[in-house]
Amino acid sequence: MSEVTGILLCAGDSRRMGFHKLLYRLPNGKTPMAMSLEALIKGGVDKIVIVTNEATQPHATQLAARAGVPVTLCDGGVTRQDSVYKGLKKTGKGIVVIHDAARCLARPSLVQACIDSARLYNSGVAAIPIRDTVLHVTKGGEKVAPMPRDEMLRMQTPQAFDYLQIFAAYERARKTGLPATDDSSLYAASGHAVRFVRGHANNRKLTTPDDLVWLEEHLFSSSAGLGAQSGLRVGYGEDVHRLIPGRSLILSGVKVPFDKGLLGHSDADVVTHALIDALLGAAGLGDIGQQFPDNDERYRDISSLKLLGQVTGEIAAAGYGVRNADIVITAEQPKLVQYFPEMREMLCSALHLQREYVSVKATTTEGMGPEGRGECIRATAVVLLFTLK
Ligand code: MG
Repeated sequence: MSEVTGILLCAGDSRRMGFHKLLYRLPNGKTPMAMSLEALIKGGVDKIVIVTNEATQPHATQLAARAGVPVTLCDGGVTRQDSVYKGLKKTGKGIVVIHDAARCLARPSLVQACIDSARLYNSGVAAIPIRDTVLHVTKGGEKVAPMPRDEMLRMQTPQAFDYLQIFAAYERARKTGLPATDDSSLYAASGHAVRFVRGHANNRKLTTPDDLVWLEEHLFSSSAGLGAQSGLRVGYGEDVHRLIPGRSLILSGVKVPFDKGLLGHSDADVVTHALIDALLGAAGLGDIGQQFPDNDERYRDISSLKLLGQVTGEIAAAGYGVRNADIVITAEQPKLVQYFPEMREMLCSALHLQREYVSVKATTTEGMGPEGRGECIRATAVVLLFTLK
């Protein structure tokens, strides 16, 4: 059987997002780029060309190292069309499957169906029917004409083709200056009949920040589900450290100016410790003392945020994503409210979560008990995990 090469397009500049969407760390611990690559591999490609730009090249190198199939990297061009052409030039025979990395929910079965179709008919292109009414509207809106939607398709990727045919179509388009944002239209312009494969609605291209929120919701709700298969797990953590003079006060990774600090083997960050315990508890992975023993020299004065980062990786490896976390700090002094934004920021970046999913708040005990007397600071945390599929 002829060899199948996947061309993964990661050279877009992500202008509409404000940050690089393909490198965004999702609650499942993966980036959209990694998910798209996985879909191609699981869908049956034999080797891969990843078309990158400056921003995506380092991550592509990491992914290539553990892909399990041969991966070649190549620089993209100014337009999508240029990038595909450059990717095609790195290929050479058989069947080629072109895929936009921004469609990171493409199912391996869809990749496979496109390949199968290309084997039989020289092309297999993912598309879905249009259910909404489509109007052709002039710029000023003075002319509005309904379009025949049963004659229209919404194009997706993957798109698989016989290599020689699609390469010739791209060469021809370069000569004639024919622009296209989609491969099948160039293929058709070369006189070939396009064979369509039914795509799926959630094979959506990440374009705006809303798409990313949608994707996070999708990953969560497809795990949470309804009924017996619910994959939600709650965790609770608590920690107390003694306040003494001569130590820095580190809470949630933030150095808070105060005349005392917390005593402990690490940086004694009670907030991060409570959160780590909640995460480990929810995932059934023991507790912080088992994971990071306080007689282990490796953890002396270590930033607890580092430990949190490590635990976040373990949670993902165990098959869980973090949905949200809520933290209460009990301290008579100092006043902490001004540090909350920075504290949340620190935790969010270690958890790969957006800010609205992490809450940090504080209370006093009105002078009662050891916290009230300023002998210690206590933190409690609850987290919700969801099962990754
Ligand atoms: Mg502790």
